Amino acid sequence: MRNETLDLPRRMLMGPGPSEVHPRVLAALSRPTLGHLDPAFVRLMDDIVHRLRTTFQTNNQLTFPVSAPGSAGMECCFVNLLEPGDSVIVCINGVFGMRMKENVERCGATPIVVEDAWGTAVDPAKLRAALKANPAVKTVAFVHAETSTGVQSDAAALCAVAREFGALTIVDTVTSLGGIDVNVGAWEADAVYSGSQKCLSCPPGLSPVTFSERAAARVKERRTKVQSWFLDLSLVMGYWGDGKGGGRTYHHTAPVNALYGLHEALLMLHEEGLEQAWRRHSLTHRALVAGVEAMGLKMKVDAAVRLPQLNLVEIPEGADDATIRRRLLNEFNLEIGSGLGIWAGKVWRIGLLGQSATPAYVLACLTALEAVLHASGARITAGRAYAAAHAVLNS
Ligand SMILES: *Cc1c(COP(=O)(O)O)cnc(C)c1O
Repeated sequence: MRNETLDLPRRMLMGPGPSEVHPRVLAALSRPTLGHLDPAFVRLMDDIVHRLRTTFQTNNQLTFPVSAPGSAGMECCFVNLLEPGDSVIVCINGVFGMRMKENVERCGATPIVVEDAWGTAVDPAKLRAALKANPAVKTVAFVHAETSTGVQSDAAALCAVAREFGALTIVDTVTSLGGIDVNVGAWEADAVYSGSQKCLSCPPGLSPVTFSERAAARVKERRTKVQSWFLDLSLVMGYWGDGKGGGRTYHHTAPVNALYGLHEALLMLHEEGLEQAWRRHSLTHRALVAGVEAMGLKMKVDAAVRLPQLNLVEIPEGADDATIRRRLLNEFNLEIGSGLGIWAGKVWRIGLLGQSATPAYVLACLTALEAVLHASGARITAGRAYAAAHAVLNS
């Protein structure tokens, strides 16, 4: 151990998260730390809640960032809405649906799995059939943007089916919020969580959540205590406020500086405009796909269900997964993601999340990938990707 500051590299973050953090957000993190009940900080908290409602497109009173990463937002939704003995439908089409099922079991509830193949969206017709067959189900959970497969499911349709059967919905929007349309109000979704380090482009460690009045009522009617003290909404809201202007009391010490960062990132998103941010993700995605295909590489999932912000590219013959990623990191300071689960070693996951979704990043990524693949003898077509992407960006 030496008494010196560690020298860390500066990377281009184009994996499945964390994404690039803008210098404005990094600067915000270094503002003077305030007490977590200081009136000036409380004003900032109010503004964060207001901006989260705008971002989720909801008027839900119960909206705030959980002081922990996306998985804690997930857990917050499950432990508050579920009680032991409940039957819960979990839609699984990738890794994060599997994590939801794990949460259901740890709540002492019974998961009923509606499974769709990796690379396909959750099928609303299968969900309807499962709800018909299991009338006791009170809750349906699904992932809007499955980061392990780069697939988008139809959240509006899935929430509508659940509502037909009087079930509440738990929706994972960790990778979707800020990158594509997340409309909690129009969907009438009930418990929705996200994460700071994907399309919101903050450092990891915060999980915005929002709960409908139906979800809030469900929590009030619980027969049993929420198993987690830290995530118990009835306690946390004593600090974040119930939206009705009640006094705030200590629950846990909020990560004050991290919240400065989230506030600045939301401010930047709203300066740009939600729709414009979605258009930027879509444009950079189309440019990336054009470049990837010009190299002769294949996108893994169908264009109809692809997430613009999370791109799965098949690893070509003659290319070694780990070697290529290591060379991108060491020679270009560029991080892309590896495949997860059944697709480990078969695909790369290229993230265009938040501030990483820029023309310069797309062009740099394509150029670096092409150079490294070509140099390592993989079978690709060199010399065309840049022009193909450029044409899309300037169309
Ligand atoms: C990243 C991610 C999570 C987990 O978030 P952490 O911040 O890593 O805990 C959950 N769901 C999805 C879809 C994700 O992409």
